[in-house]
Amino acid sequence: MLAKFLPYLRPYWWRVAWALLQVVLIAGFELLKPWPLQVVIDNVLGSKPLPIAALASTSQKAVLLLACLGLVVVHLGAGGLTLLHNYTTIGVGQRMVNDLRGALYAHLQRLSLAFHSRQRVGDLLYRITADSFAVQTMIMNGALPILSAAVLLGGMLVVLLPLDPILTLLSLTVVPLLFALILGFNRKIVDIATEVRTTESRVYSVVQWAMSSIKLVQAFTKEDEEHRRFMGASGESLRATLRLYNWQTLYSGAVNLVIAGGTALVVYAGARAVISGRLSVGQLIVFISYLAQLYAPINQISQSWGLIAGARVGARRVFDILDTEADLRDGSRSFPLEGARGDVAWRNVSFRYRPETPVLDGVDVRVPAGSKIAVIGPTGAGKSTLLGLLPRFFDPSVGVVEIDGVDLREYQLKSLRSQISMVLQPPLIFPLSVRDNIAYGRPGASNAEIEEAARLARIHDFIASLPEGYDTVVGETGVALSEGERQRITIARALLRDAPILILDEPTSALDVATEALVMAAIERLVAARTTFIIAHRLSTVRRCDRIIVLRDGIVAEEGTLADLLRRNGLFAEYYRTQFPPEVQQNAQLGLDA
Ligand code: ADP
Repeated sequence: MLAKFLPYLRPYWWRVAWALLQVVLIAGFELLKPWPLQVVIDNVLGSKPLPIAALASTSQKAVLLLACLGLVVVHLGAGGLTLLHNYTTIGVGQRMVNDLRGALYAHLQRLSLAFHSRQRVGDLLYRITADSFAVQTMIMNGALPILSAAVLLGGMLVVLLPLDPILTLLSLTVVPLLFALILGFNRKIVDIATEVRTTESRVYSVVQWAMSSIKLVQAFTKEDEEHRRFMGASGESLRATLRLYNWQTLYSGAVNLVIAGGTALVVYAGARAVISGRLSVGQLIVFISYLAQLYAPINQISQSWGLIAGARVGARRVFDILDTEADLRDGSRSFPLEGARGDVAWRNVSFRYRPETPVLDGVDVRVPAGSKIAVIGPTGAGKSTLLGLLPRFFDPSVGVVEIDGVDLREYQLKSLRSQISMVLQPPLIFPLSVRDNIAYGRPGASNAEIEEAARLARIHDFIASLPEGYDTVVGETGVALSEGERQRITIARALLRDAPILILDEPTSALDVATEALVMAAIERLVAARTTFIIAHRLSTVRRCDRIIVLRDGIVAEEGTLADLLRRNGLFAEYYRTQFPPEVQQNAQLGLDA
């Protein structure tokens, strides 16, 4: 785990080095803390001569004043450095959290849709917002206290061993005991901390799901049921958290017991040493205050062990995602400057989202550049999946998808996707201005081009009527749009992008027949020379295409022109008869407008 943190520490190495130096300096001051008191007890109150010969003639009062002054200086030094240390380490910790989040977010955006279809959004949200803070906790509550305890321990050994080796060894007997405690409790606490994180991320998921489907919840008056579901998830998290606190309390109780035993042992043996004259009272005070100082960081660690264990789990959850290899390997080829020709082929392609259910099975389709292809079939037949293979939202499990005769996996993803313009289902709108929404696929577009695209998509008049025209913010936080308006904005977006290959997933399903005809006519004019795929349910759209692919259960059931398929009298013909009223069919066969 530590090795994984290192790259994130590297940019701040000098701050880290400064923090480490502070640890040493603070330890130095901590070691000095009891000495003025020893001087007061042994040399002012007691009758021991001062250890420094030059000071032998100084008056008792002056020594007392000096010792008190020393006390103030040492405490001020230790306090000031500790403040500085907190400032430094919080700065490093927070910056690391920020970097780690950035890396996690960037990585998540790059993972394929196949990965995202397996993940819960709430869980990912929790990993980005809460788990990434684990880095800070691990450093502030874990690594640094352990380090300062170790430095202090080392310093104390150096100071105490010459004073009284036996007493020093006695006071160290607690260290292995404390280690044993940590080992004994660790497994349990880490397990529960994992459970806390998992149940807490489930709470996020429940909220995320319910809030994004709030309309459905209210339409079916399921508010109480959703509340129960939430309280169920929240209750599980509560139980895990309480259990964590219980174990944590038990653990710090045990630590305190060991520490109290250790202190009693040292006081007992130390007092005996003072009685026998081996040790002065002041030296015993030094021993006891050192013990207290040594136990402070140990205590701090034990108090926050649950937190640290939780943080380790959080860090693991972050690195689990970061270690997920991008399942789409980027290729090296790019398309020529003038863009792809637009020949598309699926060669014996099979695909499954989950190992047990094939969604596409042995699809073999060749589409020459510039054709307009209608993809039809019942819901769930695999139409969106078939077309989703083109921008490599996922790769086929078997077989090859090609554009211009080259396997898609050989192209750079960026270059590949820049050749494709898409209208997806459902139409996605960002909480940005209308202008930015339309220009999303071509950021440099001029206002005139954006308006032209909006006109073609029959949405310009509507946008012009909005309070701030093209600058009106739409979507989640802004003006609410109807399904049809959203669709036309996404069509304008695709038209503006103007790529050699166009994918339209039921682009006009929410438009009335008259508007649809106008929008389709505009699309047609624009895409005259482009390879276009349209997932369509309407005859008027299907009829405008050169060729029809009929999918059923992931298999190409039929393929050909409208006339071919009607003549064959198979699945399409049947579909056609049930979908469209007889007079429309007659007109269609006669080549008249519906
Ligand atoms: P269509 O576009 O013809 O309605 P899809 O391509 O959307 O069909 O879906 C085909 C099948 O794949 C369906 O059975 C659907 O449940 C399944 N499917 C679609 N998307 C996913 C996904 N992200 N994860 C798992 N299964 C999926």
